[in-house]
Amino acid sequence: MNIIERISSMLADNGSGLYGGEAVTQTQHALQCAALAEADGASAQLVTAALLHDVGHVLDPEFETSLAESQDLVHEDVGERFLNDWFGEAVTQPVKLHVAAKRYLCAVDSSYFARLSEASVLSLQLQGGPMSEAEIAAFEANPHHRDAVRLRIWDDKAKDPDRETPDVAHFMSYAARCLRTGATA
Ligand code: FE
Repeated sequence: MNIIERISSMLADNGSGLYGGEAVTQTQHALQCAALAEADGASAQLVTAALLHDVGHVLDPEFETSLAESQDLVHEDVGERFLNDWFGEAVTQPVKLHVAAKRYLCAVDSSYFARLSEASVLSLQLQGGPMSEAEIAAFEANPHHRDAVRLRIWDDKAKDPDRETPDVAHFMSYAARCLRTGATA
């Protein structure tokens, strides 16, 4: 099975749990986030990042074992480390930065915090609260920070239990186009 098939089956087999305190499953959340990215005219890399931004929550046991040394990592770092074997930074950096992007937006956009769901407000505290000035400067120095912010805004909206989307196969066609050269297994 190649990596595209494996990720598809992870979403099918491991994605039926609810997305942290929200009314959608992990897979619905991933599909809605990717559909919002697609509708917003995002690149194939960013649609892929949107689809896979929470892949750290749906890894199958074999991958979890291979990432065991990173057990103390948070889900965005687990996802980035996993994806790094197959995708470049235009995919992996927005995934890695999507939680930091929430802390960033809370610091720079006062209307953003007011729009967060209850579960997102709770997790913000665990994630360190709004960024400091120094953290804002470091975040803005990352060339992928704008894509991370776009992903974050789709992420926050991708929680609608009634929203219909294209299927996993539709979005995995974007992922297939973004594989690193030679990375097919
Ligand atoms: Fe998410």
